[in-house]
Amino acid sequence: MSDLASRPRLLLRRLHQVMAGPGSAQERLERLTTVIAQNMVAEVCSVYLVRAGEILELFATEGLKKEAVNKTRLRFGEGLVGLVAQRALPLNVQEASSHPRYVYREETGEEDYHSFLGVPIIRHDKVLGVLVVQNVKQREYTSEEEEALLTVAMVLAELVGGGELVDPAEMSNGLTQSGLPLSLKGQKMADGIAMGIAVFHEGRVEVTRFVAENVDDEKARLLEALNTMRAQIDKMIAAPEIGMAGEHHDILETFKMFAYDRGWQQRIFDSIEAGLTAEAAVERVQQQNRRRMIATPDPYLRERLADLDGLANRLLRTLAGRSDSEVLEGQSIIFARNMGPAELLDYDREKLCGIVLAEGTSTSHVAILARAMGIPLIGRCTDAAAHVNAGDKVIVDGDTGQVLVRPSDDICDTYRESIELKREQAAQFRAERHLPTVTRDGVRVELFMNAGLQSDMMHLESLGADGVGLFRTEFQFMVSATLPRLEAQRELYAAILDIAGDKPVTFRTLDVGGDKAVPFLPHEEEENPAMGWRAIRIALDRPVLLRYQLRALMMAAVGRTLSIMFPMVADVSEFRAARKIALKEWNRFEKLGAERPAKLEIGTMLEVPSLAWQLEPLLKDVDFVSIGTNDLMQFFFASDRSNPRLIDRYDLLSPAVLNFIHMVVEKCDKANVPVTLCGEMAGRPLEAMALIGLGLRRLSISPMTIGPVRRMIRSLDLQRIEDYIVAELHSPAHSLRASLYNYAYDHDVDL
Ligand code: PEP
Ligand code: MG
Repeated sequence: MSDLASRPRLLLRRLHQVMAGPGSAQERLERLTTVIAQNMVAEVCSVYLVRAGEILELFATEGLKKEAVNKTRLRFGEGLVGLVAQRALPLNVQEASSHPRYVYREETGEEDYHSFLGVPIIRHDKVLGVLVVQNVKQREYTSEEEEALLTVAMVLAELVGGGELVDPAEMSNGLTQSGLPLSLKGQKMADGIAMGIAVFHEGRVEVTRFVAENVDDEKARLLEALNTMRAQIDKMIAAPEIGMAGEHHDILETFKMFAYDRGWQQRIFDSIEAGLTAEAAVERVQQQNRRRMIATPDPYLRERLADLDGLANRLLRTLAGRSDSEVLEGQSIIFARNMGPAELLDYDREKLCGIVLAEGTSTSHVAILARAMGIPLIGRCTDAAAHVNAGDKVIVDGDTGQVLVRPSDDICDTYRESIELKREQAAQFRAERHLPTVTRDGVRVELFMNAGLQSDMMHLESLGADGVGLFRTEFQFMVSATLPRLEAQRELYAAILDIAGDKPVTFRTLDVGGDKAVPFLPHEEEENPAMGWRAIRIALDRPVLLRYQLRALMMAAVGRTLSIMFPMVADVSEFRAARKIALKEWNRFEKLGAERPAKLEIGTMLEVPSLAWQLEPLLKDVDFVSIGTNDLMQFFFASDRSNPRLIDRYDLLSPAVLNFIHMVVEKCDKANVPVTLCGEMAGRPLEAMALIGLGLRRLSISPMTIGPVRRMIRSLDLQRIEDYIVAELHSPAHSLRASLYNYAYDHDVDL
């Protein structure tokens, strides 16, 4: 074991002395490489720094030939050093030359050295360089050595980031082009359009003191800051606007659990013990978490780690004595790498009008909250930090997933009009909510809404939906760190039914697994998660989970109608097995003499094509069918619904799809089984027109689309569209979109 790993505190002191000592930055850097090499018992220690254009240049070395300094250059991704920088992760190899990415640079004389350990030098999430140690002997560096070198790299970042060695503008790769308008692409995670001034999320506090003068003092500071921060979070949860239930509350409860996590606290204490200040220790542990976060394919774990990241930022702010709420000047668009749910709630809602994240997923807590709060959010916008300056004017188009930076006045005017128009339209749609959803020739079409959050339920009344056609129950499970207790499940379902009043609600049982990972189920990486162990497959393999959920639903719906359906049923026997479990639970209530719902309706989602070929037996058993075109279409066309390259490849308005739906609807009608369509397609007026033409009379759509679809229905002559579309069903066209559009135009259908 090297000296470095066993006595990090001593080494940090020595490094600190060198850094604070005399000489130019370059001289101090050279001295540092010598100290590190000695302590690491390594023959080589080198520092590569980032120059403009993602080039890594050797700046100082102990052990390699000195003439290579300022000469050896590697691109990001080139050689082992380039790989460390590109992935921003350590690389530990016993025999460097046998690594597939190894490149040999003659001027360095490195052929004599075999083992290689490289770690990124990171500051403010940017890779500033790479720190490498090498040994003649083939050896694998221990994980303690790797950790220790990462700690050293963090301290080095202080010197490197100071700007004396490389111009800071070069280090940011000269990417920020102030002045020029540009458009960046991301993924839309919460709809809507917003215009405002760019504000960088000040989650991160710059750590300026790295090496502890007195370890006990640092520990005391940490403890005090932890206590203050925990008290703030407790207060936040108790605030009246958060309420006692609903997902805001669940998310914050989970956040609170992390704030009190002993393991996290211990790791920070360990880093202080190793010689870091409280701030540096928090940052160090945060870096470790971030490494795990980047490396894990598990979306659930990533989300948990993102919460921890937010917590670390909050703790750093507390240590710096900064207030817990962020002050915004005017209408602001917040830019952040990622954000925890509590950080979002810290902002003044009146001034926060949009969010852009470099990371994020549509099921991340911040995205769920943003949707619930009506704040447009674009995620996966990786270029934003490099191209946007604080104070830039920005438009967030959450409908298209675009971020317009420094837009011209013309563009601003257009968007302003569009925002105004949307506002007016929304008001008009609200005013029309009581108008009957009836075609011109007097046929009623029921318009239900899809929901997944308690906060979605307010739209039921404000938009005049006929009920909830699909309540996705998985959100409650995804935002909670542990399996939601029976009582918590019951509470949520009862609250939903209470808000719905007389309007019907169809609950879909848990659709988790695949990319909707939850902590209480084993999560193995799957090649095709959408086609993997998910939904009903999990429910049937883990019937206790399903039974509990059914029990909670039955308890919640005492005296009322309970309508449930199962997701991803591929085979009629799966439906029968799930229904059997439901009926067993139903009978259990009777046996116990417990109160139960007045009526139980059990249906199925039809989102796997195979089920459509078993309708004869299926329709004898089900109370209703709900066609889920989101999943159905990806299996129908063998085309991944999340692959951007395939988004426009196949059209839902193709004769093949329309024939398929027509066939299902006809059979359901013949069997007198109600059929609903609850995929996103039904929320688009043109598609809804086609679906109604195919015989559908029940659509379940996202709340914001209810107004436009209702208006379309009220302008439609049903008999005509039916005749038209049925005649087109056997067309050889790739899509009927254009002809349906022309039809709508010719017949004054309000799209
Ligand atoms: C569907 O697949 O169409 C559906 C409604 O379910 P989800 O979008 O939740 O998978
Ligand atoms: Mg689905």
